[in-house]
Amino acid sequence: MAQPTKEETVANTFAKRRRAVHGTRESGAAAVRPAQIELTGVTKRFVTPSGTMFTALRDVDMTIGAGKFCAVVGPSGCGKSTTLTMVAGLERPSAGTVQVGGQSVDGIAAGTGFMFQSDALMPWKTVLGNVALGPVFRNVPKKEAQAQAREWVRRVGLAGFEDHHPHQLSGGMRKRVSLAAALINNPSILLMDEPFGALDVQTKAMMSNELLALWEQARPSVIFVTHDLEEAIALADQVVVMTAGPGTVKAVYDIDLPRPRGAVQEIRFAPRFLELHHQIWASLREEVESAYTRTATVASAEGGRS
Ligand code: ADP
Repeated sequence: MAQPTKEETVANTFAKRRRAVHGTRESGAAAVRPAQIELTGVTKRFVTPSGTMFTALRDVDMTIGAGKFCAVVGPSGCGKSTTLTMVAGLERPSAGTVQVGGQSVDGIAAGTGFMFQSDALMPWKTVLGNVALGPVFRNVPKKEAQAQAREWVRRVGLAGFEDHHPHQLSGGMRKRVSLAAALINNPSILLMDEPFGALDVQTKAMMSNELLALWEQARPSVIFVTHDLEEAIALADQVVVMTAGPGTVKAVYDIDLPRPRGAVQEIRFAPRFLELHHQIWASLREEVESAYTRTATVASAEGGRS
């Protein structure tokens, strides 16, 4: 009998773990219901290299309704990514609770999709191979996994590029592959950390339109971390402003722009968009300035010592 390949072994291990947790054999990415995400009184402390405790997040309360799109903005270092890692189950809170779909998060859960600023694609795999990874890890038969992947490659506008490798694609195309690789799993929650941060302005706008069109079909609950307030308002139902570190929720704004939103390049000129931008920026600016002043003070103190 042929020995299983390394990938098949990994896939079987994942499938066994999932069956142990869920008691069933999974086939395709059956419709997963969007799940409410709830953080209550979340504090996160890290041990610094000098052995002291550093508080990155303090008393964070945040609720993202099932199927809602939430954007989180705040100055650099305020704990946005740390918040995501706890919802993802990669880190645990030092105090407080994180729940997804009413269950406490305890490790990486099935139904969680990720997208980061870096592409996280396998460089040795083709576009089709990268997109098919999720179903393969869920033990979907190879032919079916490839058929699903082919359909997702088409949906993100990359038909004809199935056999290309990531290094043969533009930055925007690699983002499309990442998006297809996340959405093929039909996630109940989608966690995005500055996914379009490295793209040029036009490509970023195109990807935002693409993301909205795909999200409006499947509607997973989304947390989208960004430092770009315009992007946050254009995409989200709700914008959360965080304070300068230790990060906590300063304010939550409902974005009552109609859906479907259409092209993000155009909605930016809508009077309601400008009004929301003005209002949220007033709140965010204080935090950005406070974080900047703090960094500048530390830098000048360190400069004085050297
Ligand atoms: P943001 O995403 O808002 O830029 P992060 O969540 O990445 O901020 O980081 C918040 C703070 O927590 C930063 O000061 C960062 O240095 C610190 N931090 C993040 N992860 C760790 C870690 N694993 N160990 C120690 N400090 C960390």
